[in-house]
Amino acid sequence: MKFTFTDKVDDLVSRVEGFMNENVYPAEAVFHEFLEKSDNRWTIPPIMEELKKKAKAQGLWNLFLAEFEDYGAGLNNLEYAPLAEIMGRSPIGSEAFNCSAPDTGNMEVLARYGTQAQRDEWLVPLLNGEIRSAFAMTEPAVASSDATNVQCTIDRQGNEYVINGRKWWTSGALDPRCKIMIVMGKTDVNAPRHTQQSQILVPVDTKGVTLLRPLNVFGSDDAPHGHAEVLLENVRVPASNIIGGEGEGFAIAQGRLGPGRIHHCMRLIGCAQRALELMCKRAENRVAFGKKLSDQGSVREDIAKSACEIEQARLLTL
Ligand SMILES: Cc1cc2nc3c(=O)[nH]c(=O)nc-3n(C[C@H](O)[C@H](O)[C@H](O)COP(=O)(O)OP(=O)(O)OC[C@H]3O[C@@H](n4cnc5c(N)ncnc54)[C@H](O)[C@@H]3O)c2cc1C
Repeated sequence: MKFTFTDKVDDLVSRVEGFMNENVYPAEAVFHEFLEKSDNRWTIPPIMEELKKKAKAQGLWNLFLAEFEDYGAGLNNLEYAPLAEIMGRSPIGSEAFNCSAPDTGNMEVLARYGTQAQRDEWLVPLLNGEIRSAFAMTEPAVASSDATNVQCTIDRQGNEYVINGRKWWTSGALDPRCKIMIVMGKTDVNAPRHTQQSQILVPVDTKGVTLLRPLNVFGSDDAPHGHAEVLLENVRVPASNIIGGEGEGFAIAQGRLGPGRIHHCMRLIGCAQRALELMCKRAENRVAFGKKLSDQGSVREDIAKSACEIEQARLLTL
């Protein structure tokens, strides 16, 4: 199967590649060195904001956003895939182009379902890369792959909603630039199963929000991004913070995670491709038992198998 892209996409591919070669790969060591030397791992290496400024100036910005051509590149999800793959080749790549999760999904939610006032307050600074955001759906107490299970409550009291719940794996909540969370909870436990849930905007500094701890993924805290356990105790926000309306939370989650999960696949294919390339380089340089690794049959077989698996995943994603 062959996928061909428009001239506009091909042009963006070569510009994003050029930006990665010139700016992002050389910045990786600077980024990690800063964190290693810093007393506080939950701080942002200044090189990241420098990269963002450069990418924005070159128009390589918000490429994921199909709506709002004024802000994004106006690409559909398929056209975005080759770009996301290139950005995903570096752990610091996507953010440099304002294309990293969970902001991308949150921006899409605000663009599609938010009111004008919500967009002005939260979408615009997110699109400008001035703040970051988090999405709090998953809960430790229930199997959250089925989002109808979430137990967090969002109760209407006069002109406010009162939120109580415990979330975890809230990616990005520990980033000092994270100012807003989209929280999913239940507004009506008696409604039909898929209309019990709602999504609501909760500024991170609201009274009653406690960031309890970073969770580890395969032994890494993933600082300064991180995945937080978050306690919400009698958190009060204005009723106007609800997204869409009461009962629309499950549908919005599907609208968000549909493209959002595929974005992760695109980035991870880039990550895998880069690992494969490093493996090939290593196999060319390393000598074992009188032959380069790249001349050893079993190593060649492993590399070929990985190449096939990556290409298979790429085609499935496209
Ligand atoms: C790095 C990372 C970042 C994350 N970021 C966020 C975030 O920003 N915000 C957020 O809200 N959540 C986030 N999550 C949480 C993630 O969305 C959940 O872990 C996921 O939805 C699964 O839910 P669970 O952990 O409750 O597992 P469970 O629902 O308890 O699932 C347990 C097991 O059941 C299996 N299973 C589930 N459903 C089925 C099925 N239909 N058929 C067969 N097997 C099934 C699963 O594969 C799994 O092995 C993140 C997770 C990770 C690891």
